[in-house]
Amino acid sequence: MKLIVLGASGTWPNPGSATSGYLVQHDGFNLWVDAGTGTLANLQRHIDLADIHGIVISHEHPDHFVDLYPCFYARHYGEIGTPDLPVFVPTDFTQKLADVVSVDSQVVMRRAFAFTEVAPGESFEVGPFRVKTEPMAHLGIPALGFRMNADGAVFAYTGDTGPTHRIGEIARDANLFLTEATWQDRDDLLPFHLSSRQAAIQAREAGVGRLVLTHIWPTLDKEVSRGQAAEEYIGPIDLATEGASFEVAE
Ligand SMILES: [Zn+2]
Ligand SMILES: [Zn+2]
Repeated sequence: MKLIVLGASGTWPNPGSATSGYLVQHDGFNLWVDAGTGTLANLQRHIDLADIHGIVISHEHPDHFVDLYPCFYARHYGEIGTPDLPVFVPTDFTQKLADVVSVDSQVVMRRAFAFTEVAPGESFEVGPFRVKTEPMAHLGIPALGFRMNADGAVFAYTGDTGPTHRIGEIARDANLFLTEATWQDRDDLLPFHLSSRQAAIQAREAGVGRLVLTHIWPTLDKEVSRGQAAEEYIGPIDLATEGASFEVAE
């Protein structure tokens, strides 16, 4: 399995960067995980638009999904690729997504995309991936954390979350744990995002093989985030940056 970072900026992008988005590949299957601002452009540095085989969205915040719209335009109006692209979204999200476009476009969006709503805690399969979800702690909305298994290799991704024991459920013994690490040490941490230290504690307790920090608040120094994480987790720690790729292997 291979993870390619398409966007890693927390909430809004710095110049030349993009918000959350990842390409997860295995056995010729291209799964686009989160579709934040700028990630569709970056995706095309790696694969053609026609070769997206599935999409997974973690939650309904725009920094994780807005590039679904240009993808829809390209796939439907641009006639790139085939209809019925599998798109997995959290509960109650499909209609919210459709409400932004015209009624006519809503009809054809449902032809371009074959939506499946996933309740946090449900599992599904897409291509070679067996995906287990867990409910994340994120402002009371349906927010999915993912444990993706393909031929024994395990990739875990939090989406956005605050501290919750559910993170351990997705991350346990994962070969690679991609976690939000929005903040750094401070006195007023809030319950809907993690600091890099909190993320690293989760990684240590789950026994993951590699820790990759993402969704860091754009104004923060990422090396400080890495340093605070390294005080809690002794394994390899990487910062997610656009274009970086990682092998996920047992
Ligand atoms: Zn976010
Ligand atoms: Zn969010």
